[in-house]
Amino acid sequence: MKQLQIIYDEKKCVAAGLCESIDPEHFVINAEKAELIGSRKNKKGIFTLNIDPVGERQRKMIIEAAMSCPVNAISVKDLATNRFIVLSEIKQASSRELTATYNESKEWKLDPKGYFLIRIDQKNKLIEAGHCMERNIVDAKITGKNATNIFNTIIREGLISSQQHAAYLGKELYKAEIAINYNLNYVQDKELRFKK
Ligand code: SF4
Repeated sequence: MKQLQIIYDEKKCVAAGLCESIDPEHFVINAEKAELIGSRKNKKGIFTLNIDPVGERQRKMIIEAAMSCPVNAISVKDLATNRFIVLSEIKQASSRELTATYNESKEWKLDPKGYFLIRIDQKNKLIEAGHCMERNIVDAKITGKNATNIFNTIIREGLISSQQHAAYLGKELYKAEIAINYNLNYVQDKELRFKK
C-alpha cells in the first residue's frame, strides 16, 4: 500500500469525461467540469486529494485516468518517494534536438529475413504483400483490408527482423491503404499521386 496524491487543474478541463469513465471513484463530471471527489482547493485554484492507503487496483485506475486526460489536467504523485508518476506539464529540459537525415544508398541494409513486394487489388479493396527470400519468388502472400492487419501478421509470423525494414513496410502499407481509400494508383516505392 502506497500513498498517492492526485492534483487536478480544473481550469484546463474540457469535460471530455475520460477520467470519470476510467475512475468513477475519484472523478465525476459536474457542471461541465470534472470534480475530484473529496478534494481540497488551494489558493491557485488547484485541487488536491491524498489517498492513503491506496490499493493496487485503485492505483492503476488513478494513473490510467490521469494519463488519459487529453488536456493534461491531472497529475499523480507518489507521496512515499515524493516523485510524480504522471506529470501534467511537458518538460523538455534535457531533450536532444536532432535534424532528421537519411542517405538510402549508404544506410539501407537488407533484412536477412527477406523482402516484400506490395500491390493493391483496387476492385476488392485489398492490400497484398508477397514475402520473398529469393529474387521475386514469393514464398508467402499476406492479404488484408488494411496496413495494420498486414504488418501485425508479418511480425507475428516472424517474416521481418530489422527495425528499418519494419518502418519501411509500415510506410508502404499505409500508402497502399490510402491508395485504396482514395481510389489512387499504388506503385511500391513511388509517391502517391492525388487527383486534383
Ligand atoms: S479527462 Fe481531463 S478533460 Fe476530461 S473530464 Fe477529466 S479532467 Fe476534464
